[in-house]
Amino acid sequence: MNKGRLFIISGPSGSGKDTILAEVFKKMPELKFSISTITRPMRKGEIEGEKYHFTTNDIFEKMLEKGELLEHNLFVGNYYGTPKAPVENAINNGDDIIVEVDVNGAAQIREKVDDSVSVFILPPSLEVLKERLTKRDTDSVEAVKKRLECALCEINRADEYDYVVVNNEIPDAVNDVISIIKSDRLRIDRNIKLINEISNK
Ligand code: 5GP
Repeated sequence: MNKGRLFIISGPSGSGKDTILAEVFKKMPELKFSISTITRPMRKGEIEGEKYHFTTNDIFEKMLEKGELLEHNLFVGNYYGTPKAPVENAINNGDDIIVEVDVNGAAQIREKVDDSVSVFILPPSLEVLKERLTKRDTDSVEAVKKRLECALCEINRADEYDYVVVNNEIPDAVNDVISIIKSDRLRIDRNIKLINEISNK
């Protein structure tokens, strides 16, 4: 069986990546999503096990010690990590999986999974980013300030990625992400088995 691909998606808070990804999953329900384990307090409207598993520092640190995380990062005072097993299972089952992480997590994954494909979601401008972060009433003023500082550092590292998608209009950005995934599925290295079958090798 051909292996699946690990797609890394990053973008600063307020870039609109969650909205884009929700639409991508509606249109490509076969895609898997890596549920991160995090220690940040749950926000209003969040559901355990949907995007995140919410846990304690102690449990997170034990997972780290046991080598159960593919990558992890301390972001604005909280731990965020990608459990290794579900990602490995998806790839070995031939499924494509989306891992949504920050720039540090992305760099760690690239080191370990050399055929991963990474996509950076850019807000159309800094003004738009500021406006989106301030309008969100789920975070304190201090948290918004820190998130904006982090956003600038993240944007400075966008050149580490394979692709960039600018979130001007959501439907266009959704189509861009889908195009990246679909064209990756046409790559020769993902179709060797098919070629061999057709040529009876
Ligand atoms: P938020 O608290 O707004 O949900 O996420 C904050 C940042 O953490 C975002 O940039 C998000 O992409 C990133 N993030 C989410 N899950 C993970 C993870 O498992 N690992 C890492 N390194 N970053 C993550």
